[in-house]
Amino acid sequence: MAVVSDITARRLLARVAAEQSAARMPSLVAGVLRDGELAWSGSHGGHTPAGLPSADMQYRIGSITKTFTAVLVLQLRDADVWAFVGLDLEIGWMPLLLDGARNAKIRPGGSGYLDVSKAIPVLDVPSGGVDRSQGDVHPLGNPHYWLDPENGRRIAKAVQDKLTELSRSDAAYFAQRYADFDKRLADAEQRWKAAMAPYKGLKIVTYHRSWPNFAAEFGLDVVGYVEPKPGIPPSPAHTLDLIQEMKRQNIKIVLVEPYFDLKTPNAIARETGAKVLVMPPSVGGVKEVQNYFQLFDYDINLLVSAIKETGAK
Ligand SMILES: [Zn+2]
Repeated sequence: MAVVSDITARRLLARVAAEQSAARMPSLVAGVLRDGELAWSGSHGGHTPAGLPSADMQYRIGSITKTFTAVLVLQLRDADVWAFVGLDLEIGWMPLLLDGARNAKIRPGGSGYLDVSKAIPVLDVPSGGVDRSQGDVHPLGNPHYWLDPENGRRIAKAVQDKLTELSRSDAAYFAQRYADFDKRLADAEQRWKAAMAPYKGLKIVTYHRSWPNFAAEFGLDVVGYVEPKPGIPPSPAHTLDLIQEMKRQNIKIVLVEPYFDLKTPNAIARETGAKVLVMPPSVGGVKEVQNYFQLFDYDINLLVSAIKETGAK
């Protein structure tokens, strides 16, 4: 970490302590950035079991979301391409941001509007009539499709095609970058498949339906969900059924996405002897996962260690 002088650090810390106390905040973490690097960070209040909250402490975002929105709108105003997951995953915020950006290029029908799901064979498409009152947050099919490396390849291809269409003179460069990604992904896939190969058919439970592509690719069998339906919080009756089923089938692994409450998964684990794994489904879900390759490396390592530890079969 770059540093500030001792006297500056002491003054900053005093400032943090004064602000925390004056604003009656349970705890406060502050940092100083220089050229994008953290030059200093300090905290006051809110002792965690591990001590003071650190620079890695994550707080729930309150009414400062307007600041994030403003930054995103400005970025979108200047963008040539807007690539997104689609299948309504961004339905809650995307239309508003695109309206705010006033950039015709990235609006529906614009040259830079890239709905990546158009390049993907989508799973879990509801067959009957779709009724959102049932709580299904996947009315157009499962939007967590990037968790299959083959779909990562399709996404990269869609991006290459779009960039080539918009900038023909750079076509060779985009083709070379895609080829490089494809090669690195093929190498990584061998590693991932080899790591998972001994556990083909392993039965697991997941919190949300984030993992059908991952499970299909790596031979896992998802036999139940902590959510009774996608987007519906756990209910006591459903949880009891799930516990019974897990005991019956001797299921020892529960995958939970980092943004869900651990109360019910932990209760299920206590009853069944299963292990709860907090597994990020996307890049940025945990600090160690900064790119697509690290996502699979992290998740597969976590899973394999837990399987070994629990003796799950
Ligand atoms: Zn979902």
